[in-house]
Amino acid sequence: MDNAITWTNWAGTAECQPHSFLYPTSEEEIQEIIKDAVRNNKKVRVAGKGHSFTKLIETNSILISLDKWSGVIEVEGEIVEVRAGTNLKYLGGQLYNLGLAMENLGDIDVQSLAGAFSTGTHGTGIEFGTLSTQLVELTLVNGKGELITCSETQNREIFKAAQISIGAIGVITRMKLRCIPKYKLELINKKADFKECLSKLNQYNQENRNFEFYYFPYTETVQMKIANVTDKNPKKGGIMKYLNDMVLENGIFKLMSEVSRIIPSKSKSISKLVALFVGESKKNTWSHEVYATTRLVRFTEMEYNIPREHFEKCILEIKQKIEEMQYELHFPIECRFVKADDIWLSPAYQRESAYIAVHMYKGMPFEEYFKDMEDIFKKYDGRPHWGKLHKLNSQELKARYPKWDAFHSVRKQMDPQGLFMNDYLNSIFG
Ligand SMILES: Cc1cc2nc3c(=O)[nH]c(=O)nc-3n(C[C@H](O)[C@H](O)[C@H](O)COP(=O)(O)OP(=O)(O)OC[C@H]3O[C@@H](n4cnc5c(N)ncnc54)[C@H](O)[C@@H]3O)c2cc1C
Repeated sequence: MDNAITWTNWAGTAECQPHSFLYPTSEEEIQEIIKDAVRNNKKVRVAGKGHSFTKLIETNSILISLDKWSGVIEVEGEIVEVRAGTNLKYLGGQLYNLGLAMENLGDIDVQSLAGAFSTGTHGTGIEFGTLSTQLVELTLVNGKGELITCSETQNREIFKAAQISIGAIGVITRMKLRCIPKYKLELINKKADFKECLSKLNQYNQENRNFEFYYFPYTETVQMKIANVTDKNPKKGGIMKYLNDMVLENGIFKLMSEVSRIIPSKSKSISKLVALFVGESKKNTWSHEVYATTRLVRFTEMEYNIPREHFEKCILEIKQKIEEMQYELHFPIECRFVKADDIWLSPAYQRESAYIAVHMYKGMPFEEYFKDMEDIFKKYDGRPHWGKLHKLNSQELKARYPKWDAFHSVRKQMDPQGLFMNDYLNSIFG
């Protein structure tokens, strides 16, 4: 099926006109697409839900979507095999019906499973790794059209490379996930003082299952988000939760963002005003309905992983730089905490981690702010989130990833013709 179509990502930072946009409905069909591309010397990229900010998907050749390759395949106790095109929100509901849940999630659930896992998507909580640590096995179609299954015990090298592989090893078709019995979470949002929050960081991280905070530029205010398992009956949070969501994430925040875009000099006052509105709210319900928030306000984003031990120094330097440079900025800075893992291209590879994310409202200039922030992240041995904007080149990335060469050796073995490469991947892989 050939369509003249323009593909665009959520943030509007990537766009392409693929020659063919295909929606396979079986693994055999995916294998045929790859074999045909090999014969005809074409390139192939696979898109998830387009929620990455970088130009990972762009191609003028063949683009595949697994939107029609979705759903649960098999359940064995707490191990669930899922088609890779399944959307996280849909999966949450399916797992709930099975009495199961994912142990952790990020702050949206609209991504496809393979898309989210392939960039190292993470949530927060020092006991939890990136989502890819929940994988026990995956199956992919490599760049030769072969169907390969890999796990910790079978084709282990391929597995460690494929767990976070930004579509460069093959088209992931099936994923076996380690789930846990379903659970309820109580989520508390509350305002706190920046310095006090920093001084109690270890305590907050150790005493709570999921802890994160947003720092509001040009203020001494943070909003803490704390979630813990609860037995309480589900309760959606009432007016304060609604107000918080509206102020921070949606309607009113969108309006304020538009004011910032049109009159940039107002953005600092808007950051202060938003910080004033942060109140306390609670919500408790089943976990898959707690993690995700609806994002109506579009933005661009850079997020870096830094070693946990550098976090306090790094965020203080960021705060100081913002105050010194007076960027026209009203978006809060998100700080999260993630457990070390052993996945070759995971930003959390072999280190207890903190993630710091900086955002800019869509349509407002972000280059100078992001560049200055990136310089700070680099000083602290930062590794960028694979789905978010960054300017590192292949040499800088190689220096940050001990398993960089091992990853590329598997990549070349799986894709000898460079079928899955595009300009962006060439630029970061070298
Ligand atoms: C509003 C918003 C909130 C976000 N919140 C978080 C968050 O809380 N935590 C976090 O870590 N990140 C977050 N992200 C980033 C997001 O989770 C990642 O960028 C994720 O990769 C997007 O998933 P997707 O399905 O849209 O994949 P896409 O962006 O479409 O694709 C991502 C990569 O996966 C590859 N891919 C997709 N499907 C396959 C497949 N079947 N086989 C092989 N490769 C494949 C693509 O080729 C591409 O390289 C957020 C992004 C946005 C826009």
